[in-house]
Amino acid sequence: MTLASPQHTLPSQFAAIVGAANVLTDADTLRPYVTDWRGRYVGNALCVVRPGNTEEVAAIVRLCAQHRTPIVPQGGNTGLCGGSVPDQSGNAVVLNLTRMQRVREIDLTNNTICVEAGCVLATLQETAAGADRLFPLSLAAEGSCTIGGNVATNAGGVQVLRYGNTREQVLGLEVVLPDGRVWNGLRALRKDNTGYDLKQAFIGAEGTLGIITAAMLKLHPRPRQQAAAWVAVSKPIAAVTLLQRLREQVGERVTAFELVSRFCLELVLKHLPGTRDPLAAPAAWYVLIELSDQSATGGLAANLEQSLTHAYEAQLVTDAAIAESTAQTEALWALRENISEAQRLEGLNIKHDVSIPLSRIAAFVDTGQQRIAQAFPGARMVVFGHVGDGNLHYNVSAPEGQDARAFLAQAPAVNRIVHDLVHENSGSISAEHGIGQLKRDELPRYKSAVELDLMRGLKRAWDPGNIMNPGKIL
Ligand code: FAD
Repeated sequence: MTLASPQHTLPSQFAAIVGAANVLTDADTLRPYVTDWRGRYVGNALCVVRPGNTEEVAAIVRLCAQHRTPIVPQGGNTGLCGGSVPDQSGNAVVLNLTRMQRVREIDLTNNTICVEAGCVLATLQETAAGADRLFPLSLAAEGSCTIGGNVATNAGGVQVLRYGNTREQVLGLEVVLPDGRVWNGLRALRKDNTGYDLKQAFIGAEGTLGIITAAMLKLHPRPRQQAAAWVAVSKPIAAVTLLQRLREQVGERVTAFELVSRFCLELVLKHLPGTRDPLAAPAAWYVLIELSDQSATGGLAANLEQSLTHAYEAQLVTDAAIAESTAQTEALWALRENISEAQRLEGLNIKHDVSIPLSRIAAFVDTGQQRIAQAFPGARMVVFGHVGDGNLHYNVSAPEGQDARAFLAQAPAVNRIVHDLVHENSGSISAEHGIGQLKRDELPRYKSAVELDLMRGLKRAWDPGNIMNPGKIL
């Protein structure tokens, strides 16, 4: 690019739309916006633009389309696949939506809320709670991820078992298209069979088809009772059996069912001050269970205790701690939610976010362990996740004492073992984090030619100039 190139004048044209204070160009200021959460990708950008409303987004996109300038939509920048940061060319504009946080409407009769894309997930949860409703999406990054990012990644989290992914919460979207037109699909309908359901294409598209500026979301009744337990099991198969039994006994009240290996717990105890092992003796695996009920009657904690006693007698469970207060429930959840942070503090590792049919998950864990041990003796498995959804975070750390960065160079070989095994078991190489740049080159190996062709066709039709988050997913 030369100084005279039209692209060079874009930042000042953007400033005329959003105000100079909302166009960032200084290298130091740009750094957090071009670096992903894990610090794995560090890109470069022409500038970061922070629009304040949909019209401003549309005006920016029109300018970018005119100049064929790539746009990287960004929310809280907590994504784990490098989707929210630009490449190193310095040609892209990062379009950060965090100024757009307004709650546009709450309809308590219709049980819906309409929010702008930059609304932080925790704020949305609090707003729903303030109206005596539940917005059920919940994940460890909820203090900084945004609803736009959640929709764009079809985020999962810890309550999918009961309420479904983000996709299940979305009734309508407002999207700025790659040519700058605004599609107002903010319908608040639970039934609408009027042709193609276009919003579904934008959900999980990771910003490659358009910019989500607002979402119409479902609200649910608030739970009046919750009960949680930290449960020791000897093997993953025991966890899967326990889940089936619990569902038979308490039905849809099983809200979260999270698997944690002993090694994960040890990492949290090592790195997070104030955490402690809830049980007296170590076990190979644990499950964090949460039940919730919208009725205030019926003694949920007693139900949980009874179910766990039966499971203990059937030798499915070897020990358990049932939370007796909100503080104890929070302490149990802190053990689960700090696993990502504890891994980060321990050093980089090779991460996988996979899903497998529940009926095959135990065999997957056993075979995976054997294959990795054979190929990389001493490698440490960091296995945890939303096992109730068949979703495991299946990470591989360097052998004790070996340099973590050097071990990362083995990622292609480790990925091949893990992803091939996932494929053999009819699973997915990305359960909830998306593809981004991290798994882009893996996708063609595991998706059929027909499926890839349909995806590329959609991308070409809707974004012919390939300006929306190029180099991500496809
Ligand atoms: P960003 O990271 O900013 O962007 C993510 C992707 O969405 C990018 O491709 C970006 O271009 C696109 N995008 C962002 N906003 C828009 C928009 N308005 N329009 C169009 N495209 C857009 N994820 C889970 O699913 N489940 C978990 O349990 C979970 N736990 C996590 C725990 C931790 C500690 C961390 C750091 C992350 C976790 N994540 C989890 C991943 C991450 O939080 C989610 O992917 C989240 O949905 C990203 O939201 P964000 O606003 O940070 O999006």
